[in-house]
Amino acid sequence: MNNLNEIKLQTSKYIKQFQDFSLKYPGPVAHSVQLDFGKYKEHIVFSAIVHGEEVGSLPAIISTITSLASKKVKFGGRVTFLLGNVPAALENKRFLEQDLNRAFGENSDVQNTYEKTRALELQPVLESCDFLFDIHQTKQPTQFPFYTFGFHEKSHLWARAIGGTEMFITRPSHKSFSVSGLCIDEYVRKKGKPAVTLELSQKGYHESARVLAQRTILRVLKNADKIFMKTTTLKKLSHKNRELEFLVTSYKEPFSHPKKSLKESLTNFTKVTEAECLGFDENKKPILSPSSGYLLFPKYPNRDENGNSLELLSEIFTIVKPSNPFVFLK
Ligand SMILES: [Zn+2]
Repeated sequence: MNNLNEIKLQTSKYIKQFQDFSLKYPGPVAHSVQLDFGKYKEHIVFSAIVHGEEVGSLPAIISTITSLASKKVKFGGRVTFLLGNVPAALENKRFLEQDLNRAFGENSDVQNTYEKTRALELQPVLESCDFLFDIHQTKQPTQFPFYTFGFHEKSHLWARAIGGTEMFITRPSHKSFSVSGLCIDEYVRKKGKPAVTLELSQKGYHESARVLAQRTILRVLKNADKIFMKTTTLKKLSHKNRELEFLVTSYKEPFSHPKKSLKESLTNFTKVTEAECLGFDENKKPILSPSSGYLLFPKYPNRDENGNSLELLSEIFTIVKPSNPFVFLK
């Protein structure tokens, strides 16, 4: 089911269904659907395919809109579903000209791209939201779904209340994810609102990704009703679930030479030990893990006949380590 043509076919089918809904329930911008049930004023936003090839949540997005429209799923507030990068998704690409998930905010360094225009168009919608749930998938396989966002108390409580996963990769809130521009969720937190990113699975259509997306989207809606109709508080809801496993970056190996490469079959959350060989540099010298922890974001770019990476990447892998939540919660 996950060969390229089948993925593209599935994606165009889901996007067509979404466009049909957007005619009936138009949202504030292109590629958005909005439903307003009017019981309270707060506004929940879901974003999917901010990276075009991370399509695994589309089936759950369509089925949620279907259930909301038929009132099979009860919800009292205003909800907007945003598809971030439709043109890239139709080509099963991460983006057309620039990573949309680095194009938000002022300091984004690339201008006049499809993605920059799209980011500017989405910003007012993000400014109007009271919670953003942003759904992604990873390039390589992952042993767990995980949340990833800069620490922000309310966002953390939302993530914990939603459930979905206990793995939480975080960083101090003042540290940007990337110097080139803001991610969609970062933009929302910069405005003081909670925003959570969930990585479901490896990119593509997977049953586990569909189920997890469906479960977490419905939980967001349910929790929003409880919080905004004041039957309970976010804090109480979050305390029904166990504390998340806080993981922080302890090391990033720079992709300092296009010949640098990793050993095969490293995945997200591969456990590594100190001084373990993880790959080889341009002189065929081993690249050793500086510490124990979980490996994340291993890069296996396409290469030319001489083994040079065809992609310009800043890191070849990251190591994360468990951290005491109290470091962040104090
Ligand atoms: Zn992504």
